[in-house]
Amino acid sequence: MGSQICARSSERLLATVPCSMFICRTCRAPIKLPDDALKQRFLGLAAQLNNVFPVALVCVVCKRVDVFSSQLGSPYYDPNWRHITSLQDGKTEWLSTLLCKGDENEFRVPLLVTWTADFTVQEKMDRTNTWHGDNMLCPGGHPIFWPWSR
Ligand SMILES: [Zn+2]
Ligand SMILES: [Zn+2]
Repeated sequence: MGSQICARSSERLLATVPCSMFICRTCRAPIKLPDDALKQRFLGLAAQLNNVFPVALVCVVCKRVDVFSSQLGSPYYDPNWRHITSLQDGKTEWLSTLLCKGDENEFRVPLLVTWTADFTVQEKMDRTNTWHGDNMLCPGGHPIFWPWSR
């Protein structure tokens, strides 16, 4: 099952795919998220929610992790959000689910990362350790727990 998915996505590396494009709030670089990454992960939920829910994404330029939403009215709404078609330049993985530090951890957001090469687990961890994810807040104002804080 897992290997089939791998083979299919490497065949499609040069294909163009529909993506969400957000803009990094720190350095203004574009951050792309293929629609497929969400559909595969959320399945029925994606249909119910019409593909709108917050996601945590990392900016490859400044390494800042931030929460984005394409939903107007969300605290994480990005007014620069656009739906585009773009070359698929990597494989998107649900790396972790980030939790807020409220009593019930009531806010959970997927951290979705697009790897541009077939990195080993160690290489992924080395990169993850360079990211800055410790400034995020849930809608209730609790800090969001960042697992890789040094
Ligand atoms: Zn940035
Ligand atoms: Zn909270």
